[in-house]
Amino acid sequence: MRMMKRIFALLLTVAMLVCALAACNKPKEPEQTTPDTTTPENTTPEPEIPTTPPKKITSFRVTCGNSAVENFAATELKWYLKEKNLPLTDDGYHISLVLDESVTEDGYTIVADENSLVIAGGNNRGLAYGLYDFLEKYIGVHFYAPDTVVVDKGDVMIGGGVLEVFEPAFEILRNPWQPIEKLAEKDGGNTAQTGSTKVISLNTIAGTGYTTTCLSDAKIFEQALQKVRAQLSTGKVDAIRFSPVTDVDLYCTCEKCAAVHAEEGAPSGNYIRFLNKLYAAILPDYPDLKFEITPRAYMAKAPTVTKPADGILIRFDTDKCHISHPVTDTTCPEAVAFAESIQSWGTFCDNVYVEYALTAYKDFLPVFANLGSMREDIRFFAECGVDSIQFTGNIVCPTGEFGELRVYLLSRLLQDPLMSEEEYYGYMDAFLKAFYGEGWKFIRQFIDKTIELAADGHQTKKDSPFAAITEEEYLANEATFDGLWNKAEAFAGDRAEFVKRARYQWRYIKLCLHPNEKDAKALIADAAGGQRVAWRDKQWNVDTARSNLNLAPTEWVYKS
Ligand SMILES: [Zn+2]
Ligand SMILES: [Zn+2]
Repeated sequence: MRMMKRIFALLLTVAMLVCALAACNKPKEPEQTTPDTTTPENTTPEPEIPTTPPKKITSFRVTCGNSAVENFAATELKWYLKEKNLPLTDDGYHISLVLDESVTEDGYTIVADENSLVIAGGNNRGLAYGLYDFLEKYIGVHFYAPDTVVVDKGDVMIGGGVLEVFEPAFEILRNPWQPIEKLAEKDGGNTAQTGSTKVISLNTIAGTGYTTTCLSDAKIFEQALQKVRAQLSTGKVDAIRFSPVTDVDLYCTCEKCAAVHAEEGAPSGNYIRFLNKLYAAILPDYPDLKFEITPRAYMAKAPTVTKPADGILIRFDTDKCHISHPVTDTTCPEAVAFAESIQSWGTFCDNVYVEYALTAYKDFLPVFANLGSMREDIRFFAECGVDSIQFTGNIVCPTGEFGELRVYLLSRLLQDPLMSEEEYYGYMDAFLKAFYGEGWKFIRQFIDKTIELAADGHQTKKDSPFAAITEEEYLANEATFDGLWNKAEAFAGDRAEFVKRARYQWRYIKLCLHPNEKDAKALIADAAGGQRVAWRDKQWNVDTARSNLNLAPTEWVYKS
């Protein structure tokens, strides 16, 4: 894995540098002072690239390097230029698309003079990001969702200078942004995820039950090694995920273990030493194997001396994390503990990743009130050195709530985790306008109100939605919400279907508040018509024969 902390510091530096050199298209806020000013990145003089003011471009010429991916990118670019009615001519403004090893992996640069521009990607994926970001920022092609790509009518204005330097803050394994999501991996799309992960509890392999397994005991180590080998011999395994020895603060305090604990400043040190040793013993036979650990209980705080071996990943799942307020909410004890744990590991070692939920665990339709917390969460992860974020939940299917908006915003946050609140809501509004038509402002009001109501709630992705916004709060706002959705539908024009589909979330909540068969049947019929949406994981239908529709939808029976 790459040195994310260095990259992150560099990102801030580069953003300021670019702003100084040229009219920065999307300035990042340098909210913190850049830590040290003597790193080589800061002292290396940048080549002088003269800046020139933006001028209107009316025709283009596109060239590229020889590789398949460069040719693919050039074909894509030409296609979108045609969509915008911009002619390709031999003497047009020259855009060249190239792979350039001097550019950061997964990153890109865009450098221009008066008559030409070069989009250089550090690798296939970097070139793809460079291409689609260029289309969005400079040509006005906006990729909101598979069925919603908007090409602005306005002029194309491009100036000279270093226009963009993108260095990803996270290692991006899967960016759910539409143009990237639809690409093949060879063309710069997401990495195909085919690995299989085996979950083993150290309890089982260390074999002493729900008590204080001694990780300093050589016999226990041998026993664990044999059991892991036995697991690996059963078939192809790409990763082993170790759950902690216990899920509570029970760990061995024998003389040897206590000495390690004292040296490492945390009981997790003993565990890391144990796993490093286990990993080293297995690696010669399984060189591609990864270990994963989930820091819970006495693992919450990172050690201070022994770092996990390179192939050992620290995985934070957000199962127990509250989605309805940011992880930075200092009034919530669970959030404080979680944030401290991420900070402790993120600043101590590499290979820290977070699994972040896009979808409620159980019922997919009701309001999933995390639109107000996502920006601060992702920013926090970037700031404390998390290396990668992996999304769980629905990325590609139409949803009955704001799934498409959530995916779009998260894809923007992955690329720009330090964006300001203003930028975040700017992206949100642009999406809402394109996706929900003229009545979008009423939907924005619904979102704002639900964010406000959810902020003092503590809903995890597994909890009832009423853990975020109470039934009483919904009842008090019922007439307002009905009115907002009515208006949004009335003004939606040719996006009415999209608004109606997003309204399922509110109809679902209302059915929980006032269960009744008539409205239940209407919602079931609507959800099954047009763009179908899932009610639960892989469950696209309500089993009406086995459901009492006079009860709340949480009580119904679902089927595939
Ligand atoms: Zn011990
Ligand atoms: Zn909370």
